[in-house]
Amino acid sequence: MKLHIICALMALVCTCRAATTQPEQKVRDTVNAYLKSLPRPTLSETSPEQTLSVESMLAAVSRHKDVNDETRRIWKLAEGSAWAVMTERHKATIVKPGSGTLIVIIPPDMDARMGNDTKYFYNTQDRALYMSGRTAPDIWIAQIFFHEYGHSLQHQILRMEDGLLRETLMHTLSIQIIESGVRGYREKIRGIALRGADTMTFKDAVATVSEADLLELDTLIFGRLRNRALSGNSVVQHLIAIGFSFADEKGLGIESKKQVYDWVDKLSPN
Ligand SMILES: [Zn+2]
Repeated sequence: MKLHIICALMALVCTCRAATTQPEQKVRDTVNAYLKSLPRPTLSETSPEQTLSVESMLAAVSRHKDVNDETRRIWKLAEGSAWAVMTERHKATIVKPGSGTLIVIIPPDMDARMGNDTKYFYNTQDRALYMSGRTAPDIWIAQIFFHEYGHSLQHQILRMEDGLLRETLMHTLSIQIIESGVRGYREKIRGIALRGADTMTFKDAVATVSEADLLELDTLIFGRLRNRALSGNSVVQHLIAIGFSFADEKGLGIESKKQVYDWVDKLSPN
C-alpha cells in the first residue's frame, strides 16, 4: 500500500528525450521547458519565518468553504481538527488541540529541503495531513486542503479501496473549487480541451497544451507569486483539468476520468 496518497504534487521531470512525438513525451517536454523558465522560490519565501500560521491557513480555507455541499461537509469536520508544526522529519509539535485528522504544517525551509515541488499530502500510516507552510494564494491553499482532507475521510471513514476513484473524486473537487474562485480558469481549460480535431483522444487533447497555456493558467491562480515550486504541483492539476474537461465535453463518464488521472500520474517518475 502506498504510504502517501500523493496527488497534485509531483513535478514532471524528464530524464530522457524520445525521438517520437508521442503525447506523453510532448507533455513532458512542454512541462519541463515551462518549469525551467520559472524563477525558483526566493530565499525569503523558504525561510522558517515565512511559515503560514494555523490561523491564516484556516482563514484561507474558510473563505472557500461554501463552494458546494462537499466543501461545507469537510469544513464542518476540519474546523475542529488538531494542528501541529513539523520541527524535524518525523517530529511535530501540537500548536492547536482538536479532534479528527491531524494537520501538520511543514515550514518552508523544510519543504524546500524535501524536494523541488511543494509538499501537500495525506499520510495513511500516521493518518495525518501535511500542508506546506509556503505562501500561496488562498484559493490554492483551500483547494489542496479540501482535497487532502477528503482523502483522510476516504481512508478513515469510507474505507475507499479504489485509488483511481479516490483521486478522480478529489481532483474533481479541486477543480470545482479553483473554477469557483479563479475567473477565466474554466474557460481557458475548456478551450485547450476542445482545440483539437474531433478524432482526438484525451491524451492528444492534453498534449496540445503549450508553455504559454501553462503560464496563463498559473498566472490566473498565482499572479506574481508564481514560482517553480508551486507550479511543480499546479501543472499536474492543469493537465488533469484539461483531461476531465475533455471527458465532460465528450459525454464520457467517471471511468474515462480515472484513465485521465492514471495517465497523468504515470507521466511523473515519482
Ligand atoms: Zn489526491
